[in-house]
Amino acid sequence: MTADREAALLAEVPDGLFIGGVWRPASEGRTLRVFDPATGEAVKTIADASVADGTAALDAAVAAFPEWSRTPARERAELLRRTFDLLQERKEDIALLMTIEMGKPLAEARGEVVYGGEFIRWFSEEAAHVQGRYGANPEGTGRMIVSQHPVGPCYLITPWNFPLAMATRKIAPALAAGCTVVIKPAELTPLTTLFFVKLLEEAGLPAGVVNVLTTSSSGKVSEPIIRDPRLRKLSFTGSTPVGQRLLEQAAEGVLRTSMELGGNAPFVVFDDADLDKAVDGAMAAKFRNIGQACTAANRFIVHRSVADEFARRVTERVQNFRIGRGTEDGVTIGPLIDDRAVAKAAALVEDAVGRGAQLRTGGKAVDGPGTFYEPTVVSDVRPGSDILREEIFGPVLAIIPFDDEDDAVRIANDTEYGLVSYVYTENLARGQRMIERLETGMMGLNMGVVSNAAAPFGGWKFSGLGREGGAEGIHEYLQTKYTLTPNP
Ligand code: NAD
Repeated sequence: MTADREAALLAEVPDGLFIGGVWRPASEGRTLRVFDPATGEAVKTIADASVADGTAALDAAVAAFPEWSRTPARERAELLRRTFDLLQERKEDIALLMTIEMGKPLAEARGEVVYGGEFIRWFSEEAAHVQGRYGANPEGTGRMIVSQHPVGPCYLITPWNFPLAMATRKIAPALAAGCTVVIKPAELTPLTTLFFVKLLEEAGLPAGVVNVLTTSSSGKVSEPIIRDPRLRKLSFTGSTPVGQRLLEQAAEGVLRTSMELGGNAPFVVFDDADLDKAVDGAMAAKFRNIGQACTAANRFIVHRSVADEFARRVTERVQNFRIGRGTEDGVTIGPLIDDRAVAKAAALVEDAVGRGAQLRTGGKAVDGPGTFYEPTVVSDVRPGSDILREEIFGPVLAIIPFDDEDDAVRIANDTEYGLVSYVYTENLARGQRMIERLETGMMGLNMGVVSNAAAPFGGWKFSGLGREGGAEGIHEYLQTKYTLTPNP
């Protein structure tokens, strides 16, 4: 029954590129296979775009832009709203599809449908709220008009870890603002985007407004698009090194860019924290998405007087996790995305333990099939360990003790990243000091998950540029014009 349902769902996912309102094979006839990381088996074969397909997709977005940008905001909003409704109808199917191609437990995939869907609803509402200003200039010599205009055709690149939310977080504000797009999902998890764009089509998407490229040659296909002077905006979510490379390419056309890059989130637990709440928050901040989130807590910086008790409690919780394919009842830890991710988690734990950290639980890859790594806790991690510097992107909780507030702030800020931080304290003044002292674009104060469609998501330092979501999100796709007219 389950296998039949999965097969029927996978058969429903389009296997072509979507260009100018038409689903079609790749121009050179190449295909790529998508795998289930829990079984290692290929689940679907889809089109593998060439450079020529990339140009064709941009052509389509450029051709559709004049009309779409002039379409009344209310109509654009209604398209998004209909898509939101269709997404609710197909909620279970999209969740299952994400679990199949990405591995997250089904309950979490359902949560992502809610979260990802909220961006569509939010920006359907924001579309009609873009406003300008009109008024006399201070000298009284004229009237100033400030207006907002869509930036133009956009290229959107998304990662594999949140297959739906990363797509909706970019497509929805772009469409709401009046922009047309080419989206390139990660080659590891492209099926959710293909399915989602089919829903947009069902909702009445005009030809060329959204175009989809799936490819195993991301660099080769993307570079000519980014360097094409007709493109006006690049929005990228992924790793910092790739983001840096794309920024160099974008410099040529002085492109507007949004960059949601890597993180190395500190999770600070003070001695005045409510330890029960901190442990609950730690579980969510660390093990959601099997640790594969840019917002995942990477370093648990815990006051020395409570570090041992905190380690004991999180270890107990971790030992109750159930590992398996995300479709099975009760599974809380799915597979990592691929072999490389398993090897990375293993190497980081080995390095930390080799430098004197204590392994409390886990610490091993699970024998195949599938790419699983045991949920792991290491405590007393020593300064200089790789795990403090690198994004773990796996189910490994690393604890470092600290002695006083200045010490905690110094350790927390000791990274080039600045996406999110988590702080647990019952002392209000201390919490407020942390808001001012921690160098991150977002913070969970006694909260282990911060993401929300109504909030400006984004980082400081090497974690990126721009914001997605919130009132800020639509402005990433708008440009400002100031006009001076004579006094009437
Ligand atoms: P990645 O940088 O390897 O890939 C991201 C996307 O870029 C994929 O679609 C990939 O195909 C594409 N890509 C890779 N090389 C490219 C190139 N040369 N030119 C054009 N496109 C290219 O990252 P990933 O492994 O897919 O995702 C994990 C990373 O994403 C982590 O660092 C994580 O922190 C980050 N991330 C950030 C956020 C955020 O909002 N800040 C959200 C999710 C993930």
